[in-house]
Amino acid sequence: MTVSDLIEYGKKYLHKQEVQLLLSYLLGLDNLEIYLHLNDEVDEAKITKYKTMVLELKNNKPIQYVLKNVNFYGYPFYVDENVLIPRFETEELIEHTLDYIKHIFVKQQLKVIDLGCGSGNIGITLKKKNPLLDVTCLDISEKALNIAKYNAQNLEVDITLLQGDMLDDVNDKFDIIISNPPYISENEEIESIVRDNEPHLALYAPDDGLYFYEKILSTCSKNLNSLFLIAFEIGMTQKDRIIEIANKYLNDVKIDCLKDLQGRDRMIFIYRR
Ligand code: GLN
Repeated sequence: MTVSDLIEYGKKYLHKQEVQLLLSYLLGLDNLEIYLHLNDEVDEAKITKYKTMVLELKNNKPIQYVLKNVNFYGYPFYVDENVLIPRFETEELIEHTLDYIKHIFVKQQLKVIDLGCGSGNIGITLKKKNPLLDVTCLDISEKALNIAKYNAQNLEVDITLLQGDMLDDVNDKFDIIISNPPYISENEEIESIVRDNEPHLALYAPDDGLYFYEKILSTCSKNLNSLFLIAFEIGMTQKDRIIEIANKYLNDVKIDCLKDLQGRDRMIFIYRR
């Protein structure tokens, strides 16, 4: 089959843009270049792979899992069904965190822990952007940690990986805790493409989605230096309840809630300076 045949085949099941995405990925060409190669013959292995991917997409599998890749903050991250697909909002969390780091701390050598790291997107990106940070990525899932390890190697950063249930077995002290924990309430309706494909371990949390914020905030004092920053991604209706939890366990802190680009309350920064 030629490239042109593959386009026709794909268009029977998918939108033209999806076909272009799959082919450009498979053939290593950019979208427009595909049309300069319409009459090229494609080898059998690639045809089989292409047909599998067409079927997966047609069956409502997220494109990031089909391609096993997502662009996050300009970096390519490997992802599969064992980890959450990194979201655009989480890029905003990182951008603001980098700003807070500049304003809160005078020293440069800072220790950071990313709790529930999944693919490692948060910790690895922070390290890329600020190589002086000493970054630990923690997750309860061994499969997720293997993916974070692969991404760290692929993106050439040196980080520490740790398996654990949030801070339960962590004794080290850190300057920064950052987390995008599971925060969807167990009875909340979410898009089927998310519910049917992404790991529930990474999505849902008990106590109306607040369980992990309380778990982290109630135990983190033992792991924090005297000046610190805690950066959380949050669900858009959780702001007030999380601020309340933070005030219950930590005193003498400032708390800011920031909105995402769509104007929703999506990030909380708790800090002492
Ligand atoms: N830290 C990862 C992310 O932000 C995974 C988060 C999670 O699994 N809840 O995408």
